[in-house]
Amino acid sequence: MALSGLDIYKLLPKTNCRQCGFATCLAFAMQLAKKAVPLDKCPFLSDDAKRVLEASSQPAIRQVVVGTGEASLSVGNETVLFRHEEKFHRPCGIGFILDDTLSDAEIVSRLEKISRMQFERVGQVLQVNLVAVRSGSGAQRFAQVVKLAMDKSSLALVLMSDDPQSLKAGLAVAASRRPLVYHADEKNASQIASLCLEFKCPLVVTAPDIEGLTRLTALFEEKGLSDIFLEPGPKPVGDQLWDITQIRRQALKKNNRRLGFPVLVIAEDDDPCREAVRAATWIAKYAGIVLIKNADPAEALALLTLRQNIYTDPQKPLQIEPKLYGIGQASEKSPVLVTTNFSLSYYTVLGEVEASKVPAYILSVDTEGMSVLTAWAAEKFTPEKIVQAMEKASLGSAVSHKTIVIPGYVAVMSGDLQEACGWQVTVGPKEAAGLPSFLKNLS
Ligand code: SF4
Repeated sequence: MALSGLDIYKLLPKTNCRQCGFATCLAFAMQLAKKAVPLDKCPFLSDDAKRVLEASSQPAIRQVVVGTGEASLSVGNETVLFRHEEKFHRPCGIGFILDDTLSDAEIVSRLEKISRMQFERVGQVLQVNLVAVRSGSGAQRFAQVVKLAMDKSSLALVLMSDDPQSLKAGLAVAASRRPLVYHADEKNASQIASLCLEFKCPLVVTAPDIEGLTRLTALFEEKGLSDIFLEPGPKPVGDQLWDITQIRRQALKKNNRRLGFPVLVIAEDDDPCREAVRAATWIAKYAGIVLIKNADPAEALALLTLRQNIYTDPQKPLQIEPKLYGIGQASEKSPVLVTTNFSLSYYTVLGEVEASKVPAYILSVDTEGMSVLTAWAAEKFTPEKIVQAMEKASLGSAVSHKTIVIPGYVAVMSGDLQEACGWQVTVGPKEAAGLPSFLKNLS
């Protein structure tokens, strides 16, 4: 658990010798609490103080990396129970289970489908993260399918088997990709530990309850394995949610190091809708990795959109650069649509303008990332602000006419805006969906 500056000060020598570069021990303690200086700047710490301070500087939930290079997934190191307290930092990984009992043709087709699951939303590219190969046909077939997954997909890998021989065969093929080994339990712990040490891979530990998980993480840490995911054993969703919430709470609030690891959950269900609902539960609370089975782009898009929203900083709305954007072959005769620089507002307007095929300009006004009505209520989307944006974008030089279109929701400001800018102000539709017909009638 992080210590306050005063807690840290109590552990320092209090001689104010200045060797750390600070005038007093208290000043050094305050910087240490902010993690702005390294601990070794003070050469006079006692061994006890060093041990306590080093332990307090470790993240409450370990950050674990699966895979290598650009396709690697890094999760954990979360700091809060509730998103509104600060933010969630590392988006959970979403992966697809691939059974090695399927035919090669079916496996290749699924891998290709999964690889195509990239979506652009509000200016960000959303993509899935993992392929989890599950053994059901023995070690040789498992290794073949792992190789196929490596050849056909660059996503990070999970190797799933209850059989250490199958896992060893898969690891022999895929070790260079640092796959996640699924899974160790009370029965196979020592064999899986040997494999993970030999192939230097992270692993998932599974136990029916929190006490079992605690025992297993202690065992693996003693063996020198700390890149661990926790998996509460199969049970009803409500009980699983209870376990996962307790794990997060114990790690963050009680500084329980034995539970300070990210969690993996399998949300697999034959019914795609039920599977999506389950996966959504774990994305919201508090999975580091969620595995599903159905490789359905519609399900993936819904989950990726949810993940994007959950892992957006609630204090910093997604925003775009406030400026004048030309859409299509925009010319001096093109209409000018005014909106805010909230990403969702801008990209919704952009989508409808593109759909209309009418070249246009979008003037995005700096509203600190607020949407139209919120910004208007907060006095961030005012006639004065719009005039400033018009001047900054040199709108008078970009177009030969003197007409701007404002969103229907802020029709009330049209008179004041017209007076402030001297341009004709046209009130557009309230919803962006009305833009295509509005633009066609305009031209
Ligand atoms: S070096 Fe250590 S003892 Fe000296 S002022 Fe800094 S914190 Fe205090």
